[in-house]
Order: sequence, then C-alpha cells, then structure tokens
Amino acid sequence: MTQDFDSSQIVRMNLFELTNEELHHRLLSRAEEERRLTHQILQLIAEVDQRRLYLPMAQASLFDYLVKLIGYTPASAQRRIDAARMMQQVPELGRKIESGSLKLTQVSQVQQVLRLVRKKDNIQLLPNEKKDLLAKLENKTGAESELILAQVFKLPPQTQFRQKIQQDESVRIELTLSKEQMEVVERAKALLSHALPGASLAEVIVSLAERYVKTRIETKSKSKAECKPETQTKADVEAQTRTDQGSSSATEGVASQRRRLSQQAIPAAVKKDVLGRSQGCEFRDAKTGKVCGSKRFLEVDHIQPRFAGGGNESFNLRAMCSSHNKFRYTAGC
Ligand SMILES: [Zn+2]
Repeated sequence: MTQDFDSSQIVRMNLFELTNEELHHRLLSRAEEERRLTHQILQLIAEVDQRRLYLPMAQASLFDYLVKLIGYTPASAQRRIDAARMMQQVPELGRKIESGSLKLTQVSQVQQVLRLVRKKDNIQLLPNEKKDLLAKLENKTGAESELILAQVFKLPPQTQFRQKIQQDESVRIELTLSKEQMEVVERAKALLSHALPGASLAEVIVSLAERYVKTRIETKSKSKAECKPETQTKADVEAQTRTDQGSSSATEGVASQRRRLSQQAIPAAVKKDVLGRSQGCEFRDAKTGKVCGSKRFLEVDHIQPRFAGGGNESFNLRAMCSSHNKFRYTAGC
C-alpha cells in the first residue's frame, strides 16, 4: 500500500516556519545534494556510453537517448555528455563537480575547445594535460574560463563580420567587439536596466538605435517649428490667458509642493557624480562583509537617511541597486 500525500504542500508549510538563516542553510545543503546527484548522474551516463545502451533502445546516439528518453534539453544533454566523457579520462573531475569548484558549463567549454584544436591543429591532449587544464579553471566564472582557454590555446580572435538573412527575414549578425568597446556596451546595458530589465544584447542595441532615431526626428521637427511664421490669432492668445489665469490658483498648491520636492531632490550633477565614481552597488552584508557590486538598476542612496537628517551632500550619497535600496528601507538596515 502506498501512502498518498502532497509532499510539496508539506514542504511549503514547513518553509514558512524557517528563519532566514535556516532557509539559507537548507538551500545550501540541497544544492550540495544536487551536485552529489549530478556526479552520480554523470557516472551513470558514462556507463550508458560505455555499454552503448542507447543503440538497442533505438537511439542513434547518447545525445538522442538523453534528450528523447531521459528528458534533458539538448543543451543540458550536451553538457552532461561532455562532462561524463571528460570524467572517464580525468576521474578527479567528479569530486570537483561535487564540491562546486568546477561547473558543467566549464567542462563543456573545455570540450568544445578541445574539439576545435583537434580538428584545426590536430592537437590531442593527454589525460594529465586535461587534468592540469581543468585545475586552471577551478573557481573561475564562465567568462574567465573562456579567456583562459583562449590564451592557453592561443585561439585567434574571430573578427570576421557575418550577417545572414534568415528564412523569416530576421538577420543573424556575428561581430567582434574589442574589450573597451564591449565595456561601453555593457555600461549602456547597465544604464538601460531600469527601462529594459533583463534585456538581451540585441534588445539593448535596438533600443539605443530607436532612441537615437527618435531624438533626431524630434530635433528636426523642433527646428522646423521654429522656422514657421507665427500663426496664433489674437483670440487664441486671449483664450490661453484666460485658461492660465483660471487654473493658476488651483495649481498653486501642487506647484509649491513640487517646488518643495525639487528643493529636496538630489541635484542631477551630484547624482551623476555619485553614479560616475561608483564601482557598483555598495550594499554590504553585515555578517559576511560581502559587497553586492551589481552595476544594474543603480540608484543614489542616502547613507544617513533624509528622515534622519541626512542631506544631499556627495559624502552622504552612494550607489545602490534598486533591490538593495528597497531592501534597506523595508528591512530598516
Ligand atoms: Zn545591490
């Protein structure tokens, strides 16, 4: 007899009772379990690969088997195949994946590069060379790993510009930006993060182009309007004067309110200065000392809050991402 209950409901009920610390540690321990499980899955995939189990199961390849019969996405399947095959040559890899010092994506990056240099330069690495290479990538980010691999194998930068019109008339573009050019693009992306949260690079480029086009059109129509002869009639002027006089008393309260608010607002130049000097969000975890550092959705925050007498002087201001800015006030820290 099987006991039928909704385990997810029970888990959720228990989660409400956890303190923040308990919640963090629970997640940390489940992530460790997940990595242990990933190691075991890689061992199983390696065994399926050795036995060519996919063939009697009517699958042409290990990749097809993992996608069609096991249910991985193509990208997930390829990452696991790359890691399982690397693990057969470098058995230590399993433990590194389990500890989190190496990620599946990094192993996949290595395998891709190895396939490339084998094909192009007929270079084959020995298992101990692969082991050394993986050691160089430990605890590195995907971008750092990519750079290390490019430097180790002296991969020439791809500079060829490619533009291809596809079946649905979309255009596929491949281009190379220098480090400095990419930094400018990333800066623009970060500045646009309020208006375009989570936007892709393509969306950022299109948005910048649209903004430029709009500015040009507005400038043109403005200069045209300035050249136009005065066509306003006396009646128009009188009507406008009446409207202005009638509404002046009603808007007085709002105007003085706005004036007061504008006096409190941080001057644009000061804001620009604070954001310009910032290296990213300055929120610091009091316990670990870790600084957020995000460059997205940056806002200017008062170190000494305004309600507590803090002013708009530059020394009382710092950059903070909008999430941390909100958090700081809701958590009162
Ligand atoms: Zn932050």
